[in-house]
Amino acid sequence: MAINLELPRKLEAVIEKAHQGAAEMLRPISRKWDLREHEYPVELDTLATLFEGIQGAKTVAFAGAEAFAAGERKEVNHNGANMSAALNVMEISWGDVALMLSVPRQGLGNAAISSVATGDQLERLGKDVWAAMAITEPGFGSDSAAVSTTAKLDGDEYVINGEKIFVTAGSRATHIVVWATLDKSRGRAAIKSFIVPREHPGVTVERLEDKLGIKASDTAVIRFDNVRIPKDNLLGSPEIEVEKGFAGVMETFDNTRPVVAAMAVGIARAALEEVRKILTEAGIEISYDKPSHAQSAPAAEFLRMESDWEAAYLLMVRSAWQADNAIPNSKEASMGKAKAGRVASDITLKAVELAGTVGYSEATLLEKWARDSKILDIFEGTQQIQLLVVARRLLGLSSAELK
Ligand SMILES: Cc1cc2nc3c(=O)[nH]c(=O)nc-3n(C[C@H](O)[C@H](O)[C@H](O)COP(=O)(O)OP(=O)(O)OC[C@H]3O[C@@H](n4cnc5c(N)ncnc54)[C@H](O)[C@@H]3O)c2cc1C
Repeated sequence: MAINLELPRKLEAVIEKAHQGAAEMLRPISRKWDLREHEYPVELDTLATLFEGIQGAKTVAFAGAEAFAAGERKEVNHNGANMSAALNVMEISWGDVALMLSVPRQGLGNAAISSVATGDQLERLGKDVWAAMAITEPGFGSDSAAVSTTAKLDGDEYVINGEKIFVTAGSRATHIVVWATLDKSRGRAAIKSFIVPREHPGVTVERLEDKLGIKASDTAVIRFDNVRIPKDNLLGSPEIEVEKGFAGVMETFDNTRPVVAAMAVGIARAALEEVRKILTEAGIEISYDKPSHAQSAPAAEFLRMESDWEAAYLLMVRSAWQADNAIPNSKEASMGKAKAGRVASDITLKAVELAGTVGYSEATLLEKWARDSKILDIFEGTQQIQLLVVARRLLGLSSAELK
């Protein structure tokens, strides 16, 4: 099956609306909320309604839904929930990635739920779920197999104990998807994810972090003390399948990584457009007819950045397309996330440099985008971890064989 690189026509209207929302609703409030860390950007309630009002829009909440619901590989080229989510997220992140991470009901936990929740679970949770994703703990970040938060079955309930740190949207979301182990002695296969309501006995938001960028997005430390949840809140299978290892919970990354790559591609495009405007106003010509070496240094640099951006965009689109067509995409999702994360940091920082003093000042949003973009190369797996996943897949080595 050949990859179809054209933007799906059925998604054009949705993408246009998302772009319009980003341009008219997010850009004007970008600076305001960057300067008010920890305050809730109230305008986001309207944006959430707009998302829900766009007919046919599949946003972060729906990423993964169709690929997994369908179960089997489809015979025709198909662009569905994952592609729609990625393209929507790209447009909204072009507007403001920090605000994107704060749009109600669009948490990364929603994508995880869409990927693996059963029909019954989806019905029980209802439409108003806004789910954060809580994996990281004080004792680990990259090494997700080191989860020490526990979930013990007691009658018809799981009892959860532990602490999660750096939870995006952790103080605003209605629910938290928590990674916890059923039995630490049984290794990775015992790690499962659980849906926990945020306002629930035993759940405490301890504090919010002060950060370099994405200041409009809240980042919380959350403690779980004897938190009792119905046993049906376990996502996926409750069996500890040692032969399947970590595959169960790791599958959610196959759906969230293309979405995070889309955030990176969106913010990088914003910086490219802004710096092109500044260079053009300064009289610098960027030509697609002359070779780079025959152009000015800033023009050549711009062309290099743009081609790097295009590579990141295509890798991101490919991994979303694979997910829609039920083609295993772990390797490609990591390739896209690694490339897009690095490119977003490179392009936004280089844009600051090319724009000189204007770039470094608050006269434009370039300096903010340079700060905001770094996280996209860190969460949902750092640059190095993505490269490790790609290397393991290419070489056919397990995580024990290549660390
Ligand atoms: C603003 C923000 C928001 C976040 N949101 C969330 C969230 O919503 N949910 C959540 O669960 N977590 C979240 N995180 C946590 C994030 O996922 C972790 O920071 C990330 O996984 C890296 O973990 P660490 O910070 O402990 O770094 P470490 O794992 O200690 O890594 C430190 C450095 O070593 C490198 N490294 C680690 N292992 C290897 C290896 N085997 N080979 C080569 N290099 C390696 C890493 O790439 C990194 O550069 C967030 C973090 C931040 C800063």
